[in-house]
Amino acid sequence: MSTFSDPRIYLPGSLASIPALLGLFLATGCGPAPPPAPIQGNTMGTVYTIRVASLPAGLSLAALARDIETELERVNAAMSTYREDSEISRFNRGPADTWLRVSPELVAVVMAGQAIGEASQGAFNITVGKLVRTWGFGPAGQREAPPSPAAIQNAQSAIKASALQVRLEPPALLKELPDLEIDLSAIAKGHGVDRLATLLEAAGIDNYLVDIGGDLRTRGRRHDGTVWRIGIERPLISGRQVQQVLGMSQDAAVATSGDYRNFFEADGERYAHIVDPRTGTPVTSKLSSVSVIADDCTTADGWATALTVMGPEAGYELATSQGLAALFIRRDGETFSERMTPAFREHFAAGQIAIQTGITQ
Ligand code: ADP
Ligand code: MG
Repeated sequence: MSTFSDPRIYLPGSLASIPALLGLFLATGCGPAPPPAPIQGNTMGTVYTIRVASLPAGLSLAALARDIETELERVNAAMSTYREDSEISRFNRGPADTWLRVSPELVAVVMAGQAIGEASQGAFNITVGKLVRTWGFGPAGQREAPPSPAAIQNAQSAIKASALQVRLEPPALLKELPDLEIDLSAIAKGHGVDRLATLLEAAGIDNYLVDIGGDLRTRGRRHDGTVWRIGIERPLISGRQVQQVLGMSQDAAVATSGDYRNFFEADGERYAHIVDPRTGTPVTSKLSSVSVIADDCTTADGWATALTVMGPEAGYELATSQGLAALFIRRDGETFSERMTPAFREHFAAGQIAIQTGITQ
């Protein structure tokens, strides 16, 4: 744990925390040989951490770390709106009605985003790029005050998921509106996690925890045979506290979205970086977070954002009807209230049993 270098990392007692979610590691006096050191670095404006229970023979930690960096570089080269030469930036600047050849991975993520957009009835929309930029949440940097109604309206007119065409053979994207801009930031971290999970499995690693900025995916068990434990943070603006510990009794991904960390304030109003494409404005802050468990992290990440846009009532209803495992945490004054969908409660209960009984494989 002493290898953490990021100043945002907070260590309350025996709990190690990074933004939003965290893998928990309780100190034990004796037991099996220690696991390999975590692999850490920076990506997508945040910190990544990869923990493996053991390394296959012939694979060094340094070689694995290099492969991880290379894979993350590939993801960013395709999907980062913070890079002018990324595939997505070229598409955003490019002309309408012309197919642009892109990588099949980018096409897959765009398709995943479009599917969540449809299922969330437009609350999630990967064509929000111009609106996100207008509110100052993109690469251009923060604003001091909200944009004018005319600027918002102008940005909103460029949001149209149905004006984005995607094809796989050969992989390419086309926009029917010249101003349409794709923003994959709401699922890119989750996708990065999935890419690293695939990389680890291809290297013969079956027991791991991959974490990019609090979006995680686990497989198998920790080095001592116990389940991976994920700390879900309380939505606090300052300081970090664990609200809930989730035992990963099954292989799964967990992602969290919240309006409590990334926002700007003007005239007493707080503007969060998640925007509602239907109104053109950022979701209003009630100090809340949404965590979603899914098989893959792209899905978990996308839905966490989608449910944040929908809010605790409509979001809860939709998540329940879709069979999604979601946890809503709200702050009401000094107290925090939680609401789990039935699917989340099931995961949570199974995880609690696994933690309490200390089941090992
Ligand atoms: P974080 O990056 O803090 O984990 P999210 O995963 O929720 O948060 O992603 C937030 C980003 O998603 C925003 O910075 C913006 O680029 C993009 N975004 C904002 N609103 C929407 C929306 N309604 N649909 C899709 N993407 C959005
Ligand atoms: Mg997200």
